[in-house]
Amino acid sequence: MAIIGIDLGTTNSLACICQDGKSIRIPNSLGQALTPSAVSIDDDGKILVGAVAKERLISHPSASAASFKRYMGTNKVFLLAGQSFTPQELSSFILRQLKEDAERFLGEKVTEAVISVPAYFNDHQRYATKEAGRLAGLHVERLVNEPSAAALAASQISGKEEGCYLVFDFGGGTLDVSVVDYFDNVIEIIAVSGDNHLGGDDFDAIIARRFCSLQQMDYNHLDPIQQASLLRLAEDCKKQLTSQSQAELVWEAGGKSIALTNIELARLCQGIFDRIRQVITNALRDSSRLMADIDEIVLVGGSSKMPVVSLYLQNFFQRKPCMIGSPDEIVAVGAGIYAGIKERRQDIRDLVLTDICPFTLGTNVVNHADANKPILSPLIERNSILPCSKTGHFTNVYDGQTHISVGIFQGEAYYCHDNIKLGSIEMDILPVPANHADIEVCFSYDINGILEVEVTDHQKKQVKKKVLTSDRFRMSDAELNERLEALQAYKLMPPGGIRTRLALARGERLFAQLLGPRRQQVADAIQQLQNAIRTQNDQQIINYLRITEKLFDHLEGL
Ligand code: ADP
Ligand code: MG
Repeated sequence: MAIIGIDLGTTNSLACICQDGKSIRIPNSLGQALTPSAVSIDDDGKILVGAVAKERLISHPSASAASFKRYMGTNKVFLLAGQSFTPQELSSFILRQLKEDAERFLGEKVTEAVISVPAYFNDHQRYATKEAGRLAGLHVERLVNEPSAAALAASQISGKEEGCYLVFDFGGGTLDVSVVDYFDNVIEIIAVSGDNHLGGDDFDAIIARRFCSLQQMDYNHLDPIQQASLLRLAEDCKKQLTSQSQAELVWEAGGKSIALTNIELARLCQGIFDRIRQVITNALRDSSRLMADIDEIVLVGGSSKMPVVSLYLQNFFQRKPCMIGSPDEIVAVGAGIYAGIKERRQDIRDLVLTDICPFTLGTNVVNHADANKPILSPLIERNSILPCSKTGHFTNVYDGQTHISVGIFQGEAYYCHDNIKLGSIEMDILPVPANHADIEVCFSYDINGILEVEVTDHQKKQVKKKVLTSDRFRMSDAELNERLEALQAYKLMPPGGIRTRLALARGERLFAQLLGPRRQQVADAIQQLQNAIRTQNDQQIINYLRITEKLFDHLEGL
């Protein structure tokens, strides 16, 4: 049975399959590689995923959602057409769509996937990702870190197996920079650094605000539909600047336009570049590598395509970063290679991916300034290479103390309560004077996310142990089945009519954006297309579809 590799992105998702040693991109039912990570509920309760849902973010905002990957592993609830969904449930719709597209492409059932996740994802987020897979009917035994997948793809495509890679992954709303070693068939992530709120969206916002300031408009006074429309146009303008040096942003609804060049864009985006520099500097510092140690700078993510970004990096590094294929497909290609390796486990046994622990794990020590706010005592520090084992020695605080509570925390914050509490080990100890107890705490963290904590009281010769797996937040089987059943009731849009569905969704979005005669043109086109659909005559539908798509392309200035 085939295993597919999936890049489940914040903005876009893509599945790949390994065939004859090559990772092949699986097109969606529109024939496109990337599927926008957006979900919307239709009037008749059907689930729409991808491009159609992305259109409906503007025309039907209360029935649509995107960027839910940001909230993986949290309790956030999304309301779509009055129904509530968790981030993993919304993600499961994306995964189900990718699974169905893959089954159609391959002509066989797909039941297992390797999914990529950001290297800094904590246990909750990783577990939520696996759960999304299960809710989509996919067995997800292994997650792969996005930079590992990117490095794997880069090394295979470029044919240079060994090396130290700096993976610069600049997506829609996140920047992740990682230093990755690939030697002797071992991939090691040496350091990760990132900015969770920096990405392509920021360029869109800067362009939209620039438009407003040149047109003496106040962006904050635009209604949400106007803001969304303007951002959408700004994104189109930004993408044009990737293939040409000048582009225009024409806002039909307002009858206004501005021209923009890459030189101006670079000037407007100084703030973004400052933040990029900070992230790269942090990653290099944490990796203890010098710029000269880096063999290759790998551009990943849609925003890496921008000339202003690659030029900035070229200046910063004083050398050309390498762009292999399409940067926004690299992670999925790597996940596909990884899926292939997993499938033929016996053949390629020697390729091991070791990883790092992206967050610090530690325990609590007393805060003499404020006893109510214990301080984190780090044991396994972030960026430790896994598997990893660390021991610390602790003692009692009070004379005659008979009990200690060894907390297990994950995070970087000074105060324990600002970190995630994973559990604790409670232990009765022999009463001795303060600072005389001899308590040893050992943390061992392995590559599968299993954390073992062992506490030893050397005086009492007592040992207590706790094993924490990343599955401990697992829903009970009954709960899971209940959710599975509930989600099965939601049907995905069948692939047959997807192109007409997209044209209609696009029409509704344009109707919301435009005004006056152009708006009427859109309304007429929607009517005609719907009439054609009613005839059930395929030739007539395709004719009107072509006319409609052409009109919409024209109205969007494509
Ligand atoms: P994510 O990893 O967040 O899912 P992607 O790697 O697919 O996202 O990147 C999405 C971002 O890339 C969006 O902000 C999009 O506007 C931007 N993008 C995609 N193609 C281009 C392009 N040709 N030029 C400029 N930006 C682009
Ligand atoms: Mg990505």
